[in-house]
Parts: sequence; structure tokens; C-alpha cells
Amino acid sequence: MIPALALLATLATCVNQPADWPHEDFDRIECPQVYRIHGNAPVHQALNIVLLSAGFTEAELDDYRCGAGMMVEALLEVAPFDRYACSINVYRIDLAAPRSGLNFPDSCGNQVCSHTPPVWPHKEQECRDYAARAPGGLQGTAAIPQGRHTGNCINLDLEPRACPLEAHACQVFWPTGTGLRRLWPVSTCAPAADIVIVVANSGVWSGGGSEDMHTPLAMTTLVGIDADRTRGRLLVHEIGHTLGLMDEYAQTTAYNSPSEEPAFHEDRNLIRVAENGQMPEIPWARDCKDNQGGTACRTICNPDGCDDCTPSEGDAWPLVGLFEGGFYQECGVYRASQYCVMEDANEHDFCPVCQNYIAGIFDHMGMKTCPAGTE
Ligand SMILES: [Zn+2]
Repeated sequence: MIPALALLATLATCVNQPADWPHEDFDRIECPQVYRIHGNAPVHQALNIVLLSAGFTEAELDDYRCGAGMMVEALLEVAPFDRYACSINVYRIDLAAPRSGLNFPDSCGNQVCSHTPPVWPHKEQECRDYAARAPGGLQGTAAIPQGRHTGNCINLDLEPRACPLEAHACQVFWPTGTGLRRLWPVSTCAPAADIVIVVANSGVWSGGGSEDMHTPLAMTTLVGIDADRTRGRLLVHEIGHTLGLMDEYAQTTAYNSPSEEPAFHEDRNLIRVAENGQMPEIPWARDCKDNQGGTACRTICNPDGCDDCTPSEGDAWPLVGLFEGGFYQECGVYRASQYCVMEDANEHDFCPVCQNYIAGIFDHMGMKTCPAGTE
């Protein structure tokens, strides 16, 4: 378990009026039903993931159950999560919203934001297949003896920031302070929570994740987990953020100014050249590997807008080295590999350096790898 400061917030009583957070204690008796959908490891030696539903009505909860379950299956196939699957517990909290969907604005710049939650009739067979192979079926196994079965009492009606400031897309997706204060107390209903993941009922393909809070939080949408090929990747990209990994892509539409960007950390998956031109220490220096079996950290500069850069052929690229571009900058920031899920959540899995980083955290947490052939 990641040592985490519990955020002491409060929860609304079962009345339809704005909550007065600072003055109300969260009563555990209000807990919604929690299900165990993967793992049974001792919580102190496990990564405990808690899934929460947002914007699903009672009638839509099966879509959430199915989407969340298939997303977790996909997560556990991505390295290094596959090796540690026996030390990962996943709890799903079923929370019905009073109405379907989220509070998106109508549009953002030229883009129409989709209020309409996706409909999953085409998933019927896929969900039946999932239910047949999942431990405990579609529902899972109750992880707390009894909880309220949803209803409208506990409202996780998040207000996502879908079009912040000058943004021109509906992609940025993060709850407001009120949403966060509702979310954490509810997550404490699970036996343990190291990462909270909100699955939102939305037709916008989007996700977000941050380590800068306790408990670290990630969000993804039902549309974001719709496709087989990307549902695990979008999730692991956002979980990567909750574990401290930074975005490896050079472009951004998510932040209006550097002051909005997350903090840069020198000891993880990126390095940044100092203002005096000095290259910092490379945290992954021991892992460098060129395509000839050498171990020097070769640099591949970015020809897109960086001075004095001659493009180099892909077949000459090192497997692990220094690739220019990352953390929303074309130049002066270096990542370890050309391809990584932190660079592109559509196409790739974790690069070797990000895998090692995560495995290091898991080892530090006391998580065990699965005996061969059991994961
Ligand atoms: Zn990476």
C-alpha cells in the first residue's frame, strides 16, 4: 500500500441539497456497495485500485460494470502490471447517479462536446462473454459485507472541467474541487485505496491522471475504454501519471501556459537541459542500449523545429537512449525511447525505462511478482 494521507472531507446526507462539506462527517454507513473484481492479496503488500462510477444511472450501471471489468483485464496484460497481477487488488464501487452523463459545456472552441453518453448495445455479446469468465460474474464478489445499493443518496455528480480557459477541445477532463471532495470519502469505502480511478459516462474520448494528491487520481471515460486496442493503454497512461510518470509527448492542447503544467521531476522518465546548456544526469543511464548491442546513451535530436538537427533513420535509433521531445516541448527535453504509452496512449505500451520505474515502485511497496504461469 502506498502510504497516503487520507483527505478528511465530508459527504452529503441523503437530501437533495448542496453539501456543506467542512462541517459534515462522512458516515461509513452511507457507503455504497463495494465489489472485488480482481485480486486477493494482503492490502499492505498490494497496489489497491478503486474504481468509481460517475454519471451512470442505476439502469446504466451494467455498462460501467462491464467497461470497468474489461478495462481491468486489459490493464493486467500490459507490462509490468502483468508480472505483478497477483499483487494488484481492484475494487469497484457502484454508485448510481441521479441522471445520465456529465455536466459538459455545449461546445469548446469549434468542437461540440458530447453530453450524450455512449450507448453500448454493440457490447452486449462482449459483456456477456466478460460476465461468463469474470470471477463473480458481471457483478464481482462483495468486498464489504453490505453497502447501500446505489440509489440517489450519495451523489458523485462530478463537474468536469471540459473546456477550461482558452482551450479549444473538450479533452481536458478533471473534476472540480467539489467533485474531488465527494470522491475521496466515497473511495474510503473500499478496503484500501492507493489509486482511485473514476470511470465517467461520457461520449468524449478523454482521460486524466495526477500523483499530486492523496489518493492519486485518474479518470477515463466510457468512450475512452470502448475499443479493445486502446482501453488498456489509455488506462495505463493515466495510471502512469498517478505513479509519477510525466507526459512524453511534445505537443499539448491541454495546458494554456507553462504555469498550468504539472511539476517536472528530473529523476523519472524525462530529463531537461538546464538553461546554461548543461545536460543533467540521466536516470536511466544504466539501461541505455543502442541497436548494435552497445550501452552508450545515444542522442537522437528532433528535426521538428530544433536547430542543427539532421533527421536520422528509424533503423539507426537506439532501443533506449535520449530522444528529443517530451513534456510539451519539441526541444531540450529528452525521453528514453521513441515509443512509449506515455508518448502516445493509442499506439504503444510502456517503454523499458517507464516499465523499470513502475516495477521499482512496486518492489518498494513489497508487491510480489506472480509465480510463473499464474498471471
Ligand atoms: Zn516511457
